[in-house]
Amino acid sequence: MDVTGFTCGPLFENTYLAIHTTGQAVLVDPGFSSEQEWVHCKDRLNAKGASLAGILLTHAHLDHVLGIPKVVADYPNIELYMSDRFPEMWQAIPEQPAMFGVDFPVEEISLEPIRLSHGSTIALDEWTFEIRYTPGHSPDHVVFVSHSEGVVFAGDVLFKSSVGRTDIPFGDGHLLKESIETQLYTLPDDYVVYPGHGESTSIGAEKASNPFVRGH
Ligand SMILES: [Zn+2]
Repeated sequence: MDVTGFTCGPLFENTYLAIHTTGQAVLVDPGFSSEQEWVHCKDRLNAKGASLAGILLTHAHLDHVLGIPKVVADYPNIELYMSDRFPEMWQAIPEQPAMFGVDFPVEEISLEPIRLSHGSTIALDEWTFEIRYTPGHSPDHVVFVSHSEGVVFAGDVLFKSSVGRTDIPFGDGHLLKESIETQLYTLPDDYVVYPGHGESTSIGAEKASNPFVRGH
């Protein structure tokens, strides 16, 4: 699997374009804040001759969804997969700038998500993603695990040497720690972690030295 990260917008959100060897691609957390940022990603997709099979959304915070209208404009039939928990976060996207005290223009998203429960699987030809519910940073948060590729798209749960913020509306530090311990630190040490902000890391590296949540 070929994974390219694009750092987007004023909050330096990581959008990932993952391309399988079969040529199928998924976009994780499209946070493009400008047409330019989306074009940059689209160029990569076209250069690899890949076809976009869907959007995986770890959670519906504003910085992770800003690019969806741009993607939908070019791929009107694209499927978007996200958690079935706390749909209020998705529904509140237009109110989120006020909720989080940020000044972002919000475009309307004309897309009905496919909502998936904890433990279910997204199957794309030979490529599957397991969905694990990981609340704490946001009550609708999930991570997407590809066991065949040994990767996890972790959103804002676990970062390199850090963890997701919980000093925000609906944040819960105790739940976040529990999510990391039970849903991420139970994965094999060599799994690569692609987080929503900052550099990629591995499960083993964070278990050994993450200053906020250490593995046992
Ligand atoms: Zn977030």
